[in-house]
Amino acid sequence: MRTGILGGTFDPIHEGHLAVADAACAMLDLPRVLVIPSHHPPHRPAEPRVSPYHRFAMAALAVLPRKPGPRYDPSDLELVSADRSYTANTLRRLQADGLDPCALFFLTGADAFAEIATWRDYPALFDLAHFVVVSRPRHPVAAIPQVLPTLRDRMIMGQVQGARKELVMRRIVDGQAVSPRKAPPAIWLLDWPTPDVSSTDIRRRLRENESIAGMVPENVEAYIRRYGLYGASPEANR
Ligand code: ATP
Ligand code: MG
Repeated sequence: MRTGILGGTFDPIHEGHLAVADAACAMLDLPRVLVIPSHHPPHRPAEPRVSPYHRFAMAALAVLPRKPGPRYDPSDLELVSADRSYTANTLRRLQADGLDPCALFFLTGADAFAEIATWRDYPALFDLAHFVVVSRPRHPVAAIPQVLPTLRDRMIMGQVQGARKELVMRRIVDGQAVSPRKAPPAIWLLDWPTPDVSSTDIRRRLRENESIAGMVPENVEAYIRRYGLYGASPEANR
């Protein structure tokens, strides 16, 4: 089954992460997404603020109230391993479980993808799955071909255009139209209006007793307050 993989620290998970999954499902016609919290994220100066158990629980809650359509499932694949959470290893694990690289779509925001040359097994990891790059406020996907010019051959730009909201997918190098159902592992650049939300800002707001309404699903906020995560005040005192 064609499967999106949404990896991240999710400290905490928020509406921006869910919008990345929504963008990929809508534009690449994916029936399901695995949401995989990382255990020890490799590229961070500090360990996550809350435990992997809390981050997994929040991811599981976040996907519960989703509308009908593609299925979003939390996965403990990276949490059950004590190793650093390298994407290449995760993709190889999924392949060993029977998923074909042509059916795997690893989802990232444009800020994270701009750093991809520092990831383990770059550039071999591009043969392990499709990569899907979704725009983030202040990080347009149109900038990616200049940031990573050696990968231009593999890049396909997807945009929703015109009054009829027509979906257009074209290769960067020659403008040729491509179908996501037929292509070998490629890099899909998706222009999509994701909300201006970050986990860093949510943690700061909770510490400083500011509202996070609308930034995370309601049940995730209730969980954060129930356990006083990130210095949040309890639900009753809101
Ligand atoms: P932090 O502030 O702690 O870095 P974050 O909000 O950036 O957290 P991450 O867990 O670092 O979230 O991100 C996981 C993935 O989700 C990354 O690929 C990132 O680019 C993407 N992402 C996060 N927020 C957004 C957003 N608002 N729009 C688009 N992509 C996003
Ligand atoms: Mg981040």
